Amino acid sequence: MSERSGIGYDSHRLVEGRPLILGGVVIENAGRGLLGHSDGDVLAHAVIDALLGAAGLGDIGQHFPDTDERYAGADSIDLLGQVNGFLNEHGWRVVHVDATVICEAPRLDPHRDDMRISLAEAVGIGARELNVKFSTNEGMGAIGRGEGMAALAVATLDRMG
Ligand code: MG
Repeated sequence: MSERSGIGYDSHRLVEGRPLILGGVVIENAGRGLLGHSDGDVLAHAVIDALLGAAGLGDIGQHFPDTDERYAGADSIDLLGQVNGFLNEHGWRVVHVDATVICEAPRLDPHRDDMRISLAEAVGIGARELNVKFSTNEGMGAIGRGEGMAALAVATLDRMG
């Protein structure tokens, strides 16, 4: 069997004074953004971990340590592109990704297509093969109180050649 799947999960705090970037898309007028050593793009980070998981190549913290100044303020879509290149070097290519962002606000639906295009381009697949979903936590827990956002992703890879 030459296909493999991997899961990814990430969460970041929402804070004042940061732009909100999800799936490489800047969400204008969000009020708050995700805190992180990089740009805090929780969706891109979950996708990165799903890819690395499927390829058996560790996790995002191993490849881009948050103690490394090179990744301060990093564009996470750029990191995702680097990870895709790394998978390709190991003989893997991305077939499909499905992801969910969990947050109470803002409304993300108008940005869905842009996120799909941006993430799909970074991993070299069509936007129809990269699904993005949005869910709330129904007011429960830290995410329900709007203290942060989380994201989940599942990636499917297959062996090239
Ligand atoms: Mg992260």
